[in-house]
Amino acid sequence: MSGSVFPPTRRASVGVRIGNVMVGGGVPVVVQSMTNTDTADVAATAKQVAELARAGSELVRITVNTLAAARAVPRIRERLDMMGVGAPLIGDFHYNGHQLLHDEPAAAEALAKYRINPGNVGFGKKRDTQFAAIIELALKYAKPVRIGANWGSLDQALLAALMDENHARAQPWDAARVAREALIRSALDSAARAEEQGLPRDRIILSCKVSGVQELIAVYRDLAARCDYALHLGLTEAGMGSKGIVASTAALGVLLQEGIGDTIRISLTPEPGQSRTAEVIVAQELLQTMGLRAFTPLVTACPGCGRTTSEFFQELAKVVQDHVRAKMPEWRVKYDGVENLTLAVMGCVVNGPGESRHADIGISLPGTGEAPAAPVFIDGKKAMTLRGENIAQEFVGIVEDYVAKKYATRD
Ligand code: SF4
Repeated sequence: MSGSVFPPTRRASVGVRIGNVMVGGGVPVVVQSMTNTDTADVAATAKQVAELARAGSELVRITVNTLAAARAVPRIRERLDMMGVGAPLIGDFHYNGHQLLHDEPAAAEALAKYRINPGNVGFGKKRDTQFAAIIELALKYAKPVRIGANWGSLDQALLAALMDENHARAQPWDAARVAREALIRSALDSAARAEEQGLPRDRIILSCKVSGVQELIAVYRDLAARCDYALHLGLTEAGMGSKGIVASTAALGVLLQEGIGDTIRISLTPEPGQSRTAEVIVAQELLQTMGLRAFTPLVTACPGCGRTTSEFFQELAKVVQDHVRAKMPEWRVKYDGVENLTLAVMGCVVNGPGESRHADIGISLPGTGEAPAAPVFIDGKKAMTLRGENIAQEFVGIVEDYVAKKYATRD
């Protein structure tokens, strides 16, 4: 089936190296995330960065908002290196970034990229000098910079100027279009200033984040058409739970399909008690279900209906998906290509055998009125039938055996 569709053609963008990770320049879309710990708390922040990185976040951003946070940065880096976690750290700066990076050279050195927001890098006359000071530091430490404009902290002086410009138009734009233009111009004008100061294009990433799906699509289409900088893509303040996931994937899915976006972050608000790693899993699943990258074998499961006798197949789908996700850190090191494994867990005979045959390994559980037997299909052929109490454990065992036999062991 997948041979009949084409993956989206990526927009040509300038590649940017962030530590050991490339963003843009045609390489696959990179997943990133952000911590929510107090950065000054070295142990807690290093622990969360490690969790995010182990879940698959290839870049991790931490807020650097105080002197204590800036002082903690090199210690966090050191601790991560000792833990064997190499994910590059990105420093998120607002208002006082120029000062913190100047006062704490070890932090400036330990960070792999600086993220600044042109809307709040400084105010009034200080804005340009503070922006220039950060770019100067990026040049001194040979670091890339993300210039990240945000709807919530739009440069008000620029917006006012564009409003005036708009009044003079024969056919004025509506207010939303002027605000979009202000966001894009804020990013592009800042990037042009950084280039004038000597920061090369291959050390600049842009983002223009908004919280509305249609607005984000409109902004990024326009931004992508007007520049070839690498683009960081994300819906800001996406929200909690299914709302945050749906809004983010709806917006990012459209843009990624158009080849727009070189690195993504899903800005999910964690539900109480939920791990911060949920945002990484959503980002990976978005890229994987779109066929842009493969990270972890995904389980195809039917939704269930009145033909299913129990919730057992839903539980089995969860057991299998959780098992595979838990094993992935070990499998990734051991088995080449295991992320491409496909699995199916189906609830009855209607679509069960057919869908199971399309997967590398599939199981079709018995529906209402069907014989209490679960045929297992391997590589499209019925291989065995499971019965009794231990179907879940036996199926997981079959998956383990298949992985060990099919995927070449890495040296
Ligand atoms: S495969 Fe069977 S149980 Fe699953 S949704 Fe279809 S008809 Fe219902």
